[in-house]
Amino acid sequence: MKEVLAVDLDEVAADTVAKRLRRYAADFGEVLSREAIHGKQIRDAVPPSRSAQVEACLDEPGFSRDVPVMRDARWVLEELAGRFEIIIATSAMDHPVSLHDRYLWLRESFPFVPDRGYVFCGSKRYVRADYLIDDNPRNLEIFTGHGILFDAHHNVSEKRFDRVCSWRDVHRYFATRP
Ligand SMILES: [Mg+2]
Repeated sequence: MKEVLAVDLDEVAADTVAKRLRRYAADFGEVLSREAIHGKQIRDAVPPSRSAQVEACLDEPGFSRDVPVMRDARWVLEELAGRFEIIIATSAMDHPVSLHDRYLWLRESFPFVPDRGYVFCGSKRYVRADYLIDDNPRNLEIFTGHGILFDAHHNVSEKRFDRVCSWRDVHRYFATRP
């Protein structure tokens, strides 16, 4: 039986930050750069008067529908699907309005992952898999398999997990593990 590789959606399979920075520019007419959010949550990197609006867009219908696929995620995952059972595990209850958008996005973005492999969960504690790639250390803390931290602007100081910095890095990571 294949081992199970669980993959987080936001900021791992999907470049949600790219969408959020684009949206910030559209809403406020100012560029919010990747450098400006380095080491922070986006809500803490913007003027306090804007943070509520910056978070609210995540609850808009349609927001999650056209997020770019993270660079190299598609071909790396498709290749890894030959070795692992791939599941996509997303804590969708934080923004339940996004559920249907996420479903459509996954079908379109990763057609080689069957929809029975979509796990829309309240907590990653319930995800049973051999590996989880996630950008959020809190999810890796409660995951019972082997956690792999996907590099993100808000987790730069996290040291407890294996870190991968890109999908090419994910490819290398598993190439060196028999
Ligand atoms: Mg995430």
